[in-house]
Amino acid sequence: MLLDLSKIVDMPGASVDFSVSLDLSDLQFGSCAPLKEPVTCSGTVRNTAGVLMTKGTIHAHLNAVCDRCGEDFEDDLTYPLDVVLVTELADEDHEDEGIFPLTGNFADMDEVIRTVFILNMDTKFLCSDDCLGLCCGCGVNLNHGQCRCKKEIDPRFAALQQLLNQ
Ligand SMILES: [Zn+2]
Ligand SMILES: [Zn+2]
Repeated sequence: MLLDLSKIVDMPGASVDFSVSLDLSDLQFGSCAPLKEPVTCSGTVRNTAGVLMTKGTIHAHLNAVCDRCGEDFEDDLTYPLDVVLVTELADEDHEDEGIFPLTGNFADMDEVIRTVFILNMDTKFLCSDDCLGLCCGCGVNLNHGQCRCKKEIDPRFAALQQLLNQ
């Protein structure tokens, strides 16, 4: 969405609200594309002493596969949007992740939200922070069941067993 800011670029104190719904289903993280539903963002661009402060909240619903246990899971994500829009991008600003240029008096909110979302996104997906994962021995999902690996016999216990057998 292109947001028209012509009413506020030269008006300190003025603001424009926005609400964007964005298709990010093409975004791949590892082997999955977890954003099957549109990502939404609503917020406000405010001309604060000539600077276009842009604040809002990004919401996304995640359909992903847990990196630890391999199960499908869903999660709701909320990220803050807090960037500055500028009419001209000075060369030294190119490195700053929180500054986006306008095209004329328009802000490309899709581009802004896409960039902020990717920067915030975790690179690891976990169904829960304390996911127990799979046992590397028997492959059981430890969130649901007990490890079925044969327990190694304690060597001290084995020695005692030998004595008893004699
Ligand atoms: Zn898991
Ligand atoms: Zn096991």
